[in-house]
Amino acid sequence: MDYEIVIGLEVHVQLLTETKMFCSCRNQFTHEPNSNVCPVCIGMPGTLPVINKQAFELGILGALGLGCEIPELTKFDRKHYYYPDLPKNYQISQYDLPVSQNGIIEVEVDGVRKKFGVTRAHLEEDAGKLMHESSHSNVDLNRTGTPLLEIVSEPDMRSPQEARAYLEMLKLILQYTGISDCNMEEGSLRCDANVSIRPRGETKLGTKNEIKNMNSFRGVEAALTMVVDELLRQTEAGEAIRQVTWGYSIDRNQIFKMRVKEDANDYRYFPDPDLPAVHVGRDWVEAIRARLPELPLAKKDRFMKDYGLSDYDAGLMIQDKKMADYFEETTRISNMPKEAANWIQNDLARELSSRKVAVEDTAMKPEALAELLDLVSKKTINVPTARRVFMKILDGDTASPAAIVEKEGLAQVSDTGPIKDALEEAIKANPKAVADIEGGKPATAMFFVGQIMRTMKGKADPEAVAGVIAERFGIDPEILKSNKKKK
Ligand code: ADP
Ligand code: MG
Ligand code: ZN
Repeated sequence: MDYEIVIGLEVHVQLLTETKMFCSCRNQFTHEPNSNVCPVCIGMPGTLPVINKQAFELGILGALGLGCEIPELTKFDRKHYYYPDLPKNYQISQYDLPVSQNGIIEVEVDGVRKKFGVTRAHLEEDAGKLMHESSHSNVDLNRTGTPLLEIVSEPDMRSPQEARAYLEMLKLILQYTGISDCNMEEGSLRCDANVSIRPRGETKLGTKNEIKNMNSFRGVEAALTMVVDELLRQTEAGEAIRQVTWGYSIDRNQIFKMRVKEDANDYRYFPDPDLPAVHVGRDWVEAIRARLPELPLAKKDRFMKDYGLSDYDAGLMIQDKKMADYFEETTRISNMPKEAANWIQNDLARELSSRKVAVEDTAMKPEALAELLDLVSKKTINVPTARRVFMKILDGDTASPAAIVEKEGLAQVSDTGPIKDALEEAIKANPKAVADIEGGKPATAMFFVGQIMRTMKGKADPEAVAGVIAERFGIDPEILKSNKKKK
C-alpha cells in the first residue's frame, strides 16, 4: 500500500526581551542557579503577574512575520501540570484566545515554493530546568518565567525534508523580525514534531506520534525519518499504531520511547484570574506591523530582479539578514552585484566562520570590499593579489585596499616586456615542457603561466600572460584562461 506522511511542528522560541514574561527579573542566563528569580516567577503565594508589554509586542511582530491575523481580544490561561521545575504547578499560556492565528509560511523545497499553514502563535512562560545526577536531581529556576512564543503549524508537511525546510524558513523569518536570536544550540529555538501516516487518498488523520524537544534541523529531519520508518513497519506488520512520545539523541542519532499516551492530557485550562484580557487595538497592530522588515523570500526575489543574481546566489545572500545588508551596501557602492556575491559567499563567509566573527563586526567593511572589486575590475590588481589584500585587512591592516596596493607595490604588471623576459627564462629552464607543447599538447602551456607568476611575484596581469604565451607558442589563448574563468 502507498502511504502518505503527515507532519505538523510545534516550535518554541525565546523572545529577546529585557525582562521575564510576568515579572521584572532579567531575561538572561548568565546567573548562578536560582539567583535570577523573584517571588513572582517562583510562584510565592500572594504575588501577582504583570504582562510584559515588550514581550507582547515582540510576539505580535513575530506572528505578523508569519502572516498571522491578530484578533482583537486575547487572554492568558493557566495550563495545569505538576513538575518539579514548575513551582506554581501551572504554566501561564494561552488557550482559546491566542494572540495570533491563521498564518502562512512560504517555503522553498527543492526549488519549489510551497505554502504551509500556521495554526496559531501564542505567548507563554518557560519552565525551569532540571539537572539530573546519579543519586538525585537539581532544579534551577532561572529560566522560569522567560517569555516564549509557541508557533503551532497545521499538519501540512508531507515529508521530513519539508518539515526541515519549514523549520529553516520559520527560523529565518523570526531572525529577520529580530524577536529572537533563534540560537538552536543554546535552546532559544526548540521543536516538537508530530507525525502520522495514512493510506494515500485518505483524508482523516492517522494516530500521531510526537518527538519532543529537538534543537537541530538535521535532528528534526533524521528523527522524523526514523519514526516514519517505525510507523510504516508497524502498519505493514498489521499492528495498531499507538500514540507514542519519542525522545531523540543527536549524539547517538537515535530515537527512544519516552511514553505511550493512553488518552488525551487534561490540563484543566482556565483563564488566569490574575491577568486582564487584552484588547489589541488595530492602530497598535499597524504600528507594530510598520516595524516588520522585508522578509527573506521577498528579499530574495528582489535581489534576483534588481541585481540579476542567480537563484542560488540570491538564496545564499539572504541566509542572514546582516549578510544581506552587507551585500546590498557593497553593491550600492560598487555596482558589481555578481562579484560582491561571489566574494561574500566564498572568501568572506570562510574567514568569518574560521575567525568566528559576525559580519557586522568584520574589519572588511562593505566600502573596502567595494574598493577591492573596483581595483580588480580596473585591472589594477589581479584576483590572487586581491585575496592577499583582503587577508591583510582582516589581519589588521587598517589602510584602504588602494592604499595597501600602493604602499606594497602590488599593482599588476600588464606591460608585456617583463612578462616576455620571465617566459624566456622559464623556457630555458624547462625544455621538456616546450617539447610537449610543440609535440601537440597545448594545455601544457598552463605550466608557464605558473612559472611567470612565480617570477613576477603574482603581480602579472593574467590576460597579458596568456597573450604572451599564446603568441610565443602559436596556440589559442583561451586554453590559458580556463583556470581564471572558474572564479
Ligand atoms: P496536541 O493537543 O496533542 O498538542 P494538537 O492538535 O494541538 O495536538 O496538534 C499539535 C501539532 O500536531 C500541530 O502542529 C498539528 O498540526 C500536529 N498534528 C495534529 N494531529 C496530527 C496528526 N494526526 N498527524 C500529524 N500531525 C498532527
Ligand atoms: Mg503537543
Ligand atoms: Zn521573577
